[in-house]
Amino acid sequence: SPIPDYLNRVLEATRPLESGQPAGYIETLAKADTSKLAVALAMVDGTIYSAGDDQVEFSIQSISKAFVYALAIDDAGLDKVLEKIGVEPSGGAYNGIPVSVDRSTSRPMNPMINAGAIAAHALVVGPNATVEERTDRILKALSRLAGRQLHVDETVYEDELKDSGRNMGIAYILKAAGFIECDPQDAVKGYIRQCAINVNVRDLAMMAATLCNGGKQPISGDQIFPQQSVRQVLSVMTTCGMYDAAGTWVANVGIPAKSGVAGGIIGALPGQLGIAAFSPKLDKKGNSVRGVAICEKMSRDMGLHMMDAS
Ligand code: GLN
Repeated sequence: SPIPDYLNRVLEATRPLESGQPAGYIETLAKADTSKLAVALAMVDGTIYSAGDDQVEFSIQSISKAFVYALAIDDAGLDKVLEKIGVEPSGGAYNGIPVSVDRSTSRPMNPMINAGAIAAHALVVGPNATVEERTDRILKALSRLAGRQLHVDETVYEDELKDSGRNMGIAYILKAAGFIECDPQDAVKGYIRQCAINVNVRDLAMMAATLCNGGKQPISGDQIFPQQSVRQVLSVMTTCGMYDAAGTWVANVGIPAKSGVAGGIIGALPGQLGIAAFSPKLDKKGNSVRGVAICEKMSRDMGLHMMDAS
């Protein structure tokens, strides 16, 4: 197959991009090896291709938000989820405080930024669940999506917990306004654990391919999420998945996507393929510089833009 050669060429084309910085506020991420670069493609039939540092693990971070939103819909029902979390782009940073919540009600704007993701996390299992019950449920689901057992990176978890004032503040606002029912500190601890789950690009491509495949994991054949939840998740990924760069992304790449602060990005083209890219240096909006370039190039080369007629 010519695909592995093509993927290597994509990596070589983006390797010279040196701009950006790894995330600074989580100690482990700040020390990441910024030369790492990887890409993977997973088809809806389960065929997977990858190149570069495809075995290197990194924390999933915000990419988990897409999947935990689906779990919240499963556990609480879509109506309740929509009551607690909006579906409008915030137009601001993923951890911005005033822009993350509706000005009059304080409802989180969408589940792809921290405020909405913390609220979605709190809906998993139920309001009386423990941190452990919620994170177990999430770890199991993400492992089924990836097709192998994943683990929490305890160092990343501890590092982020030390510096969680901002997320704690957001959670207390949500609690006060009635958008989370559980203890706000538990919601943040669980959310940070969910973000600290380690993956490689092959795991992420398979997780994305499950979204492309109507919620059915291509290899196991398990229906992990119902089709309706997947539609909801992909819709919100399209409008909000790349934070305040979502508009540029949709115009340039045209694939529902989600990025994370460790440098991972997933793209999920319904009915076709899941893409994952990884490189730690981020642009000002918090998206991987090389990851964005990889996805732009692949979308152009292969004609993946969802708005193209053919
Ligand atoms: N755990 C990170 C945070 O809460 C996730 C942010 C991200 O990946 N953009 O800040």
